[in-house]
Amino acid sequence: MEKTLLIIKPDATDRHLTGEFLRRVESARFVILGLRMLHLDAVTARRFYAVHEGKPFVDALVDYMSSGPSVAVALERENAVKALREFVGATDPAKAACGTIRHDFGLDIQRNSVHASDGLDTARDELRFFFEKL
Ligand code: ATP
Ligand code: MG
Repeated sequence: MEKTLLIIKPDATDRHLTGEFLRRVESARFVILGLRMLHLDAVTARRFYAVHEGKPFVDALVDYMSSGPSVAVALERENAVKALREFVGATDPAKAACGTIRHDFGLDIQRNSVHASDGLDTARDELRFFFEKL
């Protein structure tokens, strides 16, 4: 069993999609281990996305991620990291496969509704970021 992190981003909480995303996640056989709603401040959002420091989109990304509440969701499933990346779809909703969260709900390449950890090491670090006890 693997663990990974999903974040329901501010564009989605703003549209009351939290319940719909959790329903889809559970339908896809992920088990919810932890759930935490929080409004990231800019410093914390920048720290979370530190890997993107220096990229042209990072300031706008920090503004967006601190613009409203997010929901951090700790998930477990076999092959969870890869399965969740497939479940959320490509970064750009216009390129995401049919039936993925980003295809069905993403607004644009920035406001793409969800985050998913991109590897086993990242998942471990990101889970620790939001859920110390996991
Ligand atoms: P995430 O890390 O949120 O799961 P990702 O791994 O698919 O997304 P990253 O390259 O890590 O994509 O980018 C992190 C986030 O930064 C994206 O989800 C999106 O919100 C924003 N972003 C990425 N590329 C762009 C871009 N070219 N223009 C605007 N925003 C972008
Ligand atoms: Mg990423």
